[in-house]
Amino acid sequence: MGEQHSFQAETQQLLNILIHSLYTEKEIFLRELISNASDALNRLQFEMLTNDDVVDAEAELALRIVLDEEAKSLTISDSGIGMNRDEIIAGLGTIAKSGAKAFIEAMQEKPESAADIIGQFGVGFYSAFMVAKQVDVISRSFRPEDEAVKWSATGGTNYTLESADKESRGTEVVIQLKDDEEEFTRGFRIKDIIRRHSDYVAFPIYVGDDEEPTNKQQAIWRRSPSEIDDEEYDSFYKMLTMDFAGASHQLHIRADVPMQFYALLYVPGSGQQNMFSPRKEPGLKLYARKVLIEEYNRELLPEYLSFVQGVVDSEDLPLSVSRESIQATRIMASLKKTITRRALSELKRMAKNDREKYLRIYEEFGAYLKQGLVIDGEDRSDLEPLMFFQTTHDDDPSKYYSLDEYVERMSENQDDIYYVVADDYSSGARSPHLDAFRQRGIEVLYFTHPVDAMLPMGITDFKGHKLVSVDSAELDLADVGEVSEEEQRIERPLESDAFAALQARVKATLGGRVSDVRESRTLVGSPARLVSEDDGANRYMFRINRLLDKDYELPVKALELNPRHPLMHNLGGLISKDGDEALVEAVVEQVFETALLQDGIHPDPSSMADRLTLLMQAATGSASADLAFAEVKTVISEPAAPEAGAFDGITLDPADEDEAKRTEE
Ligand code: ADP
Repeated sequence: MGEQHSFQAETQQLLNILIHSLYTEKEIFLRELISNASDALNRLQFEMLTNDDVVDAEAELALRIVLDEEAKSLTISDSGIGMNRDEIIAGLGTIAKSGAKAFIEAMQEKPESAADIIGQFGVGFYSAFMVAKQVDVISRSFRPEDEAVKWSATGGTNYTLESADKESRGTEVVIQLKDDEEEFTRGFRIKDIIRRHSDYVAFPIYVGDDEEPTNKQQAIWRRSPSEIDDEEYDSFYKMLTMDFAGASHQLHIRADVPMQFYALLYVPGSGQQNMFSPRKEPGLKLYARKVLIEEYNRELLPEYLSFVQGVVDSEDLPLSVSRESIQATRIMASLKKTITRRALSELKRMAKNDREKYLRIYEEFGAYLKQGLVIDGEDRSDLEPLMFFQTTHDDDPSKYYSLDEYVERMSENQDDIYYVVADDYSSGARSPHLDAFRQRGIEVLYFTHPVDAMLPMGITDFKGHKLVSVDSAELDLADVGEVSEEEQRIERPLESDAFAALQARVKATLGGRVSDVRESRTLVGSPARLVSEDDGANRYMFRINRLLDKDYELPVKALELNPRHPLMHNLGGLISKDGDEALVEAVVEQVFETALLQDGIHPDPSSMADRLTLLMQAATGSASADLAFAEVKTVISEPAAPEAGAFDGITLDPADEDEAKRTEE
């Protein structure tokens, strides 16, 4: 009798779930055990690249599955890396994977969905307990000095450990099947499972005394794309990532020149991290001549393509030389270049020929590509065609257009490409900056994604056309486009004296919060807007800092006033009549803060509520504005309960309608 150890609490929970599960696809336990064995073989192969002092150095790297119908058992053995005592305790007594904990949590939350969850999740070694009443693991590490060890468990809270006689290297998992799981002792059943779930495993899997392996062992990426159907691509992706929603696109590359390599790349269906995914880190699986060299390699794709999943297998990478060697570095750089180019041209092709599909990918991963444009100037010309934006072209937020399409549609005399930065489409669409553009029929791109504010740092110009923000102070549209007859403004502007007084008054009230107050040449329907005098790169720095949760200061901008707007007429009139100070002040403040709000940069919008209430009070208090001043003034200086009658005439809810009518009469 060996010594008793107790399982870690999580392991106990996991075992309990698996033993009692009514999951119908229990056969996946075999896939999990084969996958562990294959990992162990991979690790040994990797070890032997630099170390030949291993037990059974000559042994074939393979798996064998032996079935015993009489004893109702099956044994899966591998000649992999093996485990010593400590490793077996660490590997089979505890759950190291954070994913396993997530699995348990999901099961606790939704026990009724056990079947789905088990299916979605590689529960690893412990899945054997779905079919086993006892599991024995006998293992011998590759290290000559380590002793063989035997681990046994029946699914209770304990397992036992004892020393074992095992001469050969590797691990043997002996499964004593539950009474109603006899099917797993039948050769045809086991072979069928292997072919369906583990055909691609790179090492031969022998069943019983067979001399021929059951699996094709042909890694999917080494096969010809013409003989692989979508289902196979899909199941390989799911196996690799545990993302059971599937990929949205795959790219299979087999190259001979300038280097020989295979790559199978996938764009995931969603940018949302799947909590069960074992691939929590970005990076491609890197093989050199079929030997797994690195689980997550980040040198093969630029950062902005780090959302791509997949496998790269190079025939040229040296196996035994250190990968830091000059030769390896050169090959890696050249691989990166080729793979990146292929991935980008695939995306470009899709953007051109299958826009709908591309836009779904863009929605999930466009932010990465945009970052690439900003950070990786090198690939600019490849990334630009991948950019799509909502525009003012047809005011349809479901439509996205490329920069090329924008340029083709440019108005007469238009040299620049215009964009408006906003928090979202609808606030962008209402922006006062668009007044003049709409009037002249000039198209404007919406930059509404948080990363978009950075884009002007990457794309300063496109095909010779500068990118210009619609809130640029120096903007002059006089010659661009055409103002249609009916769009010609008929309102007369405020007289110059009155405007000067207004300007001075606004300056005095806003002080250092604006860099200047001036007359607008572009506003049509809006009373005011804030314009930037900074150059493009700095202009949006605060938005970027805000996005990164860093401290930021609002940029100081110039306020442009529209001398033709009725509000400016009223305000000008008030000032020249020495009208109510408090009201003038409140209106000026509100004009300024409304402009901040319209640009999506108001730091605290709810702070405007009190002022807005007072302004409404003033507006509703009397037919003639003059009479309302006094009331507003008192309330502004001492915010007390509203004056009696302040809400007269305002319909608060339908029940008040009669009341309102009576007042009107
Ligand atoms: P995972 O394989 O996902 O890490 P498992 O629960 O399946 O989780 O296995 C736990 C650990 O036990 C493995 O990470 C590995 O270290 C060890 N292990 C399992 N099976 C074998 C095997 N056949 N040979 C060597 N080590 C193994």
